[in-house]
Amino acid sequence: MSDVGELSGEVALVTGGSRGIGRAIARSLAEAGATVVVVARNGDAAAEVAGALPGEGHLGMACDVSDAQAVVDVVRRIADEAGPVSLLVNNAGITRDNLLLRMKEDDWDAVMSVNLKGAYNTVKAVTKGMMKARSGVVINITSVVGLMGNAGQANYAASKAGLVGFTKSVARELASRGIRCNAIAPGYIRTDMTADLGDGATDSLQASIPMGRLGEPEDIAGVVRFLAGPSARYITGQVLAVDGGMVM
Ligand code: NAP
Repeated sequence: MSDVGELSGEVALVTGGSRGIGRAIARSLAEAGATVVVVARNGDAAAEVAGALPGEGHLGMACDVSDAQAVVDVVRRIADEAGPVSLLVNNAGITRDNLLLRMKEDDWDAVMSVNLKGAYNTVKAVTKGMMKARSGVVINITSVVGLMGNAGQANYAASKAGLVGFTKSVARELASRGIRCNAIAPGYIRTDMTADLGDGATDSLQASIPMGRLGEPEDIAGVVRFLAGPSARYITGQVLAVDGGMVM
């Protein structure tokens, strides 16, 4: 752990931190001085990312956020090895896209259980410790699709819209305990999740973005760092779109 930086002394849990947006978030929180714990289903990939972060004491662990008991176990292990989680970033997410009439029940359930129930599992597991400390920060990564809807993504959009209601409810419930909860709604960010859009789709997407470019993972990571830190101490229950102007 670094002894300088605005997040020095914080223990940050970043779900889905093994690649894409989560990996950039883990890096930016580590640069700010936090001890970072990266989790993903692939524990080796999580450990590799944690090992490459600046500073010391970072950890990588396997955890499927849709498994409530696995989340409780990992949060306990973090408390033993690094201290209680004081900053939680719910970033793990999946897509199982299809038009509604072709969407299988399994695809609906899988997306809900990772994107929405996963956040419920992690917040529930860390809240007791945060309440005891009378401080804590939760940041949920939702999506502009949760605000606008998207053809072919009814399951994903519903899970991300659910996260918005969840964020605001947690913020209201825990504000008096010193815990802040906000959400970030990324637009289209260049990661594995958006890699197979195809050149044509990417071009027309780009044309729909006022700033004229897709986002990079670092565009989201910087905003997480801001919301996690003391500059955002009076902000809770907000959904911040980071999307080059798609939603305004
Ligand atoms: P990504 O490149 O596909 O990475 C997803 C991460 O989540 C991986 O680390 C993955 O690791 C992990 N993950 C998936 N299922 C998990 C589970 N059940 N338990 C724990 N970890 C799990 O995705 P991304 O583009 O970086 O997206 C990150 C977040 O931003 C997601 O919530 C996504 O919905 C949101 N978002 C992305 C965009 C975009 O344009 N890319 C836009 C808006 C919102 P394992 O596979 O090893 O588990």
